[in-house]
Amino acid sequence: IAAIPNGVPRAAQAEPDPVHVLQVQDLCKTYVSGGSLFKRGREVVAAHHVNFELRRGQTLGLVGESGSGKSTVGRCIVGLAPFESGRILFRGRNLMSGTALRQQAKGKIQMVFQDPYASLNPRHRIGPTLAAGPIAQGVPKAEAMARAMELLKLVGLGPEAADRFPHEFSGGQRQRIGIARALAMEPELLVADEPVSALDVSVQAQVLKLFAEVRERFQLAMVFITHDLRVAGEMCDHIAVMQRGQVVEYGPTAEVLASPQHPYTRTLIDAIP
Ligand code: ADP
Ligand code: MG
Repeated sequence: IAAIPNGVPRAAQAEPDPVHVLQVQDLCKTYVSGGSLFKRGREVVAAHHVNFELRRGQTLGLVGESGSGKSTVGRCIVGLAPFESGRILFRGRNLMSGTALRQQAKGKIQMVFQDPYASLNPRHRIGPTLAAGPIAQGVPKAEAMARAMELLKLVGLGPEAADRFPHEFSGGQRQRIGIARALAMEPELLVADEPVSALDVSVQAQVLKLFAEVRERFQLAMVFITHDLRVAGEMCDHIAVMQRGQVVEYGPTAEVLASPQHPYTRTLIDAIP
């Protein structure tokens, strides 16, 4: 579509790292909860020296059972959660090296959530919702609205969707809207956190297909978070298996599935029906 030149950065910006879109290096994140002024709270190590990297057009599956730290890593990448140590590099630049840089990278790194309903304002119509991000970044309103209409079409919704409210859509359609809203920002990196887990199985396949299509079309790098190793096997070229905050296995999908090195990965594979 004309308004979005294949997701490739427009300006001839010098690329500090032309190969890697994302590098997560030694990421550590601990939550402290239930503390007070006099007593330090209970600590939960959610990410412990997490390492992985991602190239343009590649998809990394972040797999593991509930509570293993997947969402935490995703939230650190998109800047929704602070972390104590480690580095997150976006196209070779350290995102934590300055707020200006984080701001600049903000639009380029987008997140799709498990429940898009939670992140769509129930009182806002879909068209303006899709246009809001680009408008805030300085895109003229008419252009942002035109882009919103094109994206609705791209994700398989009719133009009439623009005038409707979130509650008027099914779960699958809302997830399509969530994807459209992320794409409106012309991202280079998409973090999808359990994006089909809340959907009916029949709808899951359709939404996964849409993810594969937009990834191809815009040459997106994707971090695809799922507790479902089978889904990761279909969607991802690399897999990182997390257990209790640590990446216990990391490699090309075919290798991980064919000859897992860690017993936990074997358990996950055996659990696939
Ligand atoms: P996953 O996405 O794999 O289910 P999370 O990243 O959500 O895992 O959680 C990892 C660990 O961090 C869990 O033990 C969880 O209870 C804890 N945790 C997550 N978010 C918070 C928070 N905001 N405050 C305290 N602990 C948290
Ligand atoms: Mg999670």
